[in-house]
Amino acid sequence: MPMAKLVAFLLVLSVIAMLQTMVLASYGQGAHDYDQKHSGPRSLKSYPKSRKMIAYLERILHDTDGEPKPHYDVSSITKSLDLQGSIETDGSIISTASQDFGHLYSAQPLALIKPSGPDDIARVVKAASLTPHVTVAAKGNAHSVSGQAMTDGGLVIDMRSTEENHFRLLTIDGRSPNYIDVSGGALWEDVLTRCVSEFGLAPRSWTDYLGLTVGGTLSNAGVSGQAFRYGPQISNVMELDVVTGKGDITICSETQNPELFFSVLGGLGQFGIITRARVKLQTAPDMVRWIRVVYSEFEEFTRDAEFLVSQKEGESFDYVEGFVFSNNDDPVNGWPSVPLDPNHGFNPALIPSTAGSVLYCLEVAFQYRKNDQPSTVDTAVSGLVKGLSYVEGLKFEVEVRYVEFLLRLKRVEEEAKGSGVWDAPHPWLNLFISKSGIADFDRTVFKKMLKYGISGPILIYPLLRSKWDNRTSAALPDSEIFYLVALLRSVPEGPLVEKSVAQNREIVEWCIKEGLDFKQYLPHYQTKEDWKRHFGNQWTRFVERKASFDPMAILAPGQKIFKRTQHP
Ligand code: FAD
Repeated sequence: MPMAKLVAFLLVLSVIAMLQTMVLASYGQGAHDYDQKHSGPRSLKSYPKSRKMIAYLERILHDTDGEPKPHYDVSSITKSLDLQGSIETDGSIISTASQDFGHLYSAQPLALIKPSGPDDIARVVKAASLTPHVTVAAKGNAHSVSGQAMTDGGLVIDMRSTEENHFRLLTIDGRSPNYIDVSGGALWEDVLTRCVSEFGLAPRSWTDYLGLTVGGTLSNAGVSGQAFRYGPQISNVMELDVVTGKGDITICSETQNPELFFSVLGGLGQFGIITRARVKLQTAPDMVRWIRVVYSEFEEFTRDAEFLVSQKEGESFDYVEGFVFSNNDDPVNGWPSVPLDPNHGFNPALIPSTAGSVLYCLEVAFQYRKNDQPSTVDTAVSGLVKGLSYVEGLKFEVEVRYVEFLLRLKRVEEEAKGSGVWDAPHPWLNLFISKSGIADFDRTVFKKMLKYGISGPILIYPLLRSKWDNRTSAALPDSEIFYLVALLRSVPEGPLVEKSVAQNREIVEWCIKEGLDFKQYLPHYQTKEDWKRHFGNQWTRFVERKASFDPMAILAPGQKIFKRTQHP
């Protein structure tokens, strides 16, 4: 990359930091995991295109035991489909389905299907099942970072084309409207704005960034600063419509087809395509007091964060997150990334002289209604803040509308799109790390390996296992308190991409070597051994669920867990 372009890139990143992009895009996964030793470097964006494709093909060959796929005439598959929606085979259109937010992998599908609803999707899955090799990938908003929503030579289903299919408020108990039916292809940001503006209601559990589809986050978990109280998004759905890998259209819930329901939630798209979700709602607050406080000691930061997430509703904040930043004036990774308002200054003279290479920021929010007395809100907030052991003077606070708070990364997205940073490679790594290992992780990874930052936010906040349902397919560490750690890197094309990928791999290897109780969130692995280790004692259940609901391994091939078979 020419120097001028690199400088421009860094400048834009620093503007983003000023805008509190602490979550430039929360979450994703480390591209190219630690087992690259099995097959060497892969289709990094930094490769010239032809080489990239060759590397990609090599990976596919590796994954399919060296069996090259036959070339299909797409019309032979699609002509009998008789869909209400459309089938795109034009190269420029289907190439939109060959990329994702990571910009690290690419895979060219045979066709891009824009279904009108579950019937179309079921027909596509059934048509694929009549071939020996064709796979089907549901694509939400393609905000995965390692090709999870892609298929090489298969059919991509653009779920966004169904986003208008459902939006129906339900009155379950005859009094309060507690649930809403939304399409699996709907974006959470649209669910939010419509629920609030039309009904004054809102879902309870979110992701930091809302340009993600309902089906995409429910296939993983969906976590943010509300998950300590309400659990992840997968703990906040009551019912789903699913098209299974057999092409069956099925309604499922805790009581109706429960095995399918719990398989699909956190199921990485392996068991069915979610076409409708019934989501729990609560009364939407009007305003949010949004606060950041800085810590120099990790132990104090974690003690306060764990205390806040362990308190009852009404006795704590409504949102608890945190991040690590470098103890220096770097505009992206250091002190300037903390203030919530460009007019707030960060006074480094307040940092204790005992502070190390990194500092910690606890980010909390308190929600309230317009007609709550300001003095009541002030008293409640100051009562909560008073108990925290942050560095005196390093507290930043703003008042924002509730919807603005939840859409806080929208503006960041727009800025980043305008500057091109949004389209940069994102070699992310997301981990769930048990409380027992988090201090060691801090000592080695934050304080040493990442002390100069990662060109993007490093999130860390505690979650409670008891708010998750063990029957879902999500893989978690064992302990009640575990931390989400997210390395949300945004790097320019070039050698930094491979360096970041290598560092992610080194971190995962270190976790394994030290025996940490951890899981990757939004996992990305290449070998069966790694997937078995990832799921641990849930692996057998995961395999049995696959055999029940997608026996030919047609769905979500981009996760690289199962190989397509010709017979159930
Ligand atoms: P896609 O990337 O399109 O698909 C993801 C997987 O789900 C694929 O395997 C796909 O085949 C499958 N899939 C898609 N739709 C369906 C469906 N309807 N039914 C079944 N399977 C389906 N995650 C968090 O938990 N919290 C965050 O705060 C957060 N912030 C993010 C911010 C940014 C900027 C980005 C890029 C990602 C973030 N994520 C976060 C991660 C995000 O939740 C996952 O990457 C999610 O999969 C993306 O949703 P998507 O709709 O783009 O799904």
